[in-house]
Amino acid sequence: MAINMLCMNSDCKYYWEDMCTRNVNEEKIVISPHGCCETFEEGISEWYEKSEGCNAEEL
Ligand code: SF4
Repeated sequence: MAINMLCMNSDCKYYWEDMCTRNVNEEKIVISPHGCCETFEEGISEWYEKSEGCNAEEL
């Protein structure tokens, strides 16, 4: 089971609510020796699209 990994780079397509969706899915993330994420890809997570119209009160 993946541990929630904090990331605040909202310009990344893997970012969702201050965490990395790749980490949630147990997919590889590469961090450079200088601490930069080399897995970064500009975009918006599809998780936001999937959650559109969701209403927690209806669940
Ligand atoms: S791939 Fe890297 S930059 Fe993107 S959300 Fe994950 S940790 Fe953050």
